[in-house]
Amino acid sequence: MVYDHLIVGAGLYGAVAARMLAERGARVLLIDRRRALGGNIHTEQRMGIDVHCYGAHIFHTSNEKVWNWVNRFGRFNNFINAPVAVWRDELYNLPFNMNTFSRLWGIRRPEEAQAIIRRQAGEEVRRILQGRAAAGDEAARAALEAAGTDDAQLLADFQPANLEEQGLFLAGRDVFNKLVRGYTEKQWGRDCTELPAFIIRRLPFRYIYDNNYFNDRFQGIPEEGYTVLVMRILGLTPAELVRAEAGTPVTVHLSEGSITLRLSVPYEAVCERDETGLPRLDEEGIRLTNGDHAACLLYTGMIDEFFGYRFGELGYRSLRFETEELPEVDNYQGNAVVNYTEREVPYTRIIEHKHFNFGQGPGTIITREYPADWQRGDEPYYPINDEDNSALYERYRSFATGYEWLSFGGRLGNYKYYNMDQIIEAAVGRYSL
Ligand SMILES: Cc1cc2nc3c(=O)[nH]c(=O)nc-3n(C[C@H](O)[C@H](O)[C@H](O)COP(=O)(O)OP(=O)(O)OC[C@H]3O[C@@H](n4cnc5c(N)ncnc54)[C@H](O)[C@@H]3O)c2cc1C
Repeated sequence: MVYDHLIVGAGLYGAVAARMLAERGARVLLIDRRRALGGNIHTEQRMGIDVHCYGAHIFHTSNEKVWNWVNRFGRFNNFINAPVAVWRDELYNLPFNMNTFSRLWGIRRPEEAQAIIRRQAGEEVRRILQGRAAAGDEAARAALEAAGTDDAQLLADFQPANLEEQGLFLAGRDVFNKLVRGYTEKQWGRDCTELPAFIIRRLPFRYIYDNNYFNDRFQGIPEEGYTVLVMRILGLTPAELVRAEAGTPVTVHLSEGSITLRLSVPYEAVCERDETGLPRLDEEGIRLTNGDHAACLLYTGMIDEFFGYRFGELGYRSLRFETEELPEVDNYQGNAVVNYTEREVPYTRIIEHKHFNFGQGPGTIITREYPADWQRGDEPYYPINDEDNSALYERYRSFATGYEWLSFGGRLGNYKYYNMDQIIEAAVGRYSL
């Protein structure tokens, strides 16, 4: 058998690409080392609840084409993400909006909130510059002298040296210390003083009473879960999915093309590779271990891993999920997503899965999400796009251009954080006729 495309990774990118290519008449072999379909958007049914196995996934987009495309494969409910933040025994609405500010300061009007944030930011920037001046920084001393009592001028010229300074400058004391500092330090595993300012370029402040986390026009959760959505994108029936999960290769025909899905199969086991780690090629294309061939390879796993880390490791952040079934509890926290913003609480959030689908049944399931350092063998959830990693990724990317039969896609292949709508937009765009 000669496939037109071998796609490594049955996550959202690989699945959308497989469908687009099959619709154009291609024969596609789609493999994943996981037993489950959908990559990180995989959901599984437990106790009648769709569990988001790799963290909360809320579909949101302003791209009408993407929204229409994805709605071909299942109905979305009207879930709106409105997370709550817990700091000590205080509860705040997110994103930062008039509900948050009213709870913080007992105020009612937008201009009161704006004035408090501006005043606190001015005081903090003045304090930072005074500290710098005391340490002998001439520029800071000159800035203080030039501004006099004018905080607006101090703020206009301020250059934050780290994430703590940036946060205080953008958000003032209370919002930063209660809602940003500890959460960010947990996410990155470092103090805000050791993190670069660019991590937070701006903070989304809303001076209206609106707890909808996203600004997008369309939002929701697939009513039957993300796994069923991906199953339909691939044109599989539920019985075929069960067979694929049991390790049997399953082939579906779409238009003139076809998709053969093989789960629990790592790339390393499917491709014959030479001593440098690259696939072996002969006149029929890329040689597979079972004697089949593929003309092209689309890889949606880690680009550095694919090339055997020959230029070095890219940086990633990982996560650890701790899921608990609570059959005796019907409603654990009253909201799908609750963030814990203190550094002392080791997890960043608890999600209660049933609320994504407005579940009313008995019992509940919660997941605590712990940020973690990444090392080889861990799941790489977030790329760390700092200068060094971006330069290293660029080296891998440019090396890959030397192989015309090889391409990379998705968040690991492109070493970039993508939301689901961006993944669909990219894959549909790339493989449209
Ligand atoms: C915690 C978290 C929360 C998120 N929340 C949201 C959200 O609310 N809304 C939103 O729009 N987006 C969200 N995202 C982003 C979303 O998960 C991604 O956009 C999407 O999953 C990316 O799909 P992908 O196919 O590129 O990658 P993946 O889902 O990672 O798929 C890659 C697949 O390749 C497989 N693979 C890798 N290497 C190999 C190999 N060597 N052999 C075989 N198989 C291999 C992996 O097993 C995996 O299944 C979130 C991401 C995370 C981490």
